[in-house]
Amino acid sequence: MYNKASLIAEEFISHEEITATLAYAEENKENFALIDEILAKAEQCKGLDHREASVLLACEEPTRVARMYTMAEELKKKFYGNRIVMFAPLYLSNYCINGCVYCPYHMKNKHIARKKLTQEEIVREVTALQDMGHKRLALEAGEDPVNNPIEYILECIDTIYSIKHKNGAIRRVNVNIAATTVENYRKLKDAGIGTYILFQETYHKESYEKLHPTGPKHDYAYHTEAMDRAMEGGIDDVGLGVLFGLELYKYEFAGLLMHAEHLEAVHGVGPHTISVPRIKRADDIDPTVFDNGISDEIFAKLCALIRISVPYTGMIISTRESKEVREKVIRLGVSQISGASKTSVGGYSEPEPEEENSEQFDVSDKRTLDEVVRWLMEFGYIPSFCTACYREGRTGDRFMSLCKSGQIQNCCHPNALMTLKEYLMDYASEETKKIGEALIEAELNNIPKEKVREICEDHLKKIEEGIRDFRF
Ligand code: SF4
Ligand code: SF4
Repeated sequence: MYNKASLIAEEFISHEEITATLAYAEENKENFALIDEILAKAEQCKGLDHREASVLLACEEPTRVARMYTMAEELKKKFYGNRIVMFAPLYLSNYCINGCVYCPYHMKNKHIARKKLTQEEIVREVTALQDMGHKRLALEAGEDPVNNPIEYILECIDTIYSIKHKNGAIRRVNVNIAATTVENYRKLKDAGIGTYILFQETYHKESYEKLHPTGPKHDYAYHTEAMDRAMEGGIDDVGLGVLFGLELYKYEFAGLLMHAEHLEAVHGVGPHTISVPRIKRADDIDPTVFDNGISDEIFAKLCALIRISVPYTGMIISTRESKEVREKVIRLGVSQISGASKTSVGGYSEPEPEEENSEQFDVSDKRTLDEVVRWLMEFGYIPSFCTACYREGRTGDRFMSLCKSGQIQNCCHPNALMTLKEYLMDYASEETKKIGEALIEAELNNIPKEKVREICEDHLKKIEEGIRDFRF
């Protein structure tokens, strides 16, 4: 029985409801009166529910599909301006007791190098990340209660926040670890994490169980209900995601939106972010074995529809995707990207020897952070290293209400300019610096409130004098 406010996985992600939604979408994919009504609703930034959004996903009529793309671009501009928040993943350990068939860290993979960073290695890795200019990290670790217990993760977080190298600092640590208990989520909250991220991988229970044949992750309900436990533990910013390519994308799309509706119904606040990874080649993994792979065109449509269905939810894309794909989807709604990522355990402070490959997946975009920053600016975007909200206590429903009223923009824009200025002063190449300084100068005019603009200008001067970490 479908009930979005239920705390039981199979009720808030009801297979029957998804099946009925897909049938409804198929029946109505040429019902242009209904489609126009849904598009009109989306245009008012009211968001869409899973049924409405699924009808748009099924619709293939070119002028209406073009309208979806235009609308996504407009909503993106309205809520996120031309800013893109930067982050980097940091893999702590690839020890894992699960059997996920799409991930090279699965327990049966005996030829991948198994590694776990020591605290000394973390200091080296984080120093290297700070030296690139990163301020925001996403921690990744396999599930292994012996090698990676919660105490290890907490110790790593403490170490990361304590490293102050030159002008560098990691100001926000997001965490992507296996589903755990309310008590452990509370510990993560107390350690000062930003967002807790957990990918559902697939919402299709039967496929989920086949794709996770062994290990604790096999338990679909425990995994699917993790966000509720995280919120119960006090973490109010959570990040959802599916691994596109494992199951039919239309099914996943409906499930993802149902999960967002569930969080809103139960906790009064939807997901903070949605990630859109696609399955990639890796050690022991051939993506062609999974026959639900999606084209770049469908991927772009999914990104556009997520943008218009949940306008207030940030969207994340990683270096799994190429520069070309990233260019396309940044326009359509992506608000956060990783740059210069390593998907191996270690590898930032010194390259991993070839015989010790510990990568989780092949990276498509291999540019340096300086190159990514320059590319974004040349392409009309402001790379932002802002981490202000969580440090100012703007999380959960407080954050969402500022987002919905549009007030958050008064913070995001000057914060983007100030953090970019820090980047230019401390880490950028001469060419990047030149482009960035001109961009900041021009973008100052886009701060609507005079008072805010004056404060921002004053802070920019102080950054030139060597003071750091201003924020609105
Ligand atoms: S996806 Fe996560 S849980 Fe599964 S094998 Fe990889 S690291 Fe382990
Ligand atoms: S002000 Fe808040 S919402 Fe805006 S970029 Fe910074 S952290 Fe994100």
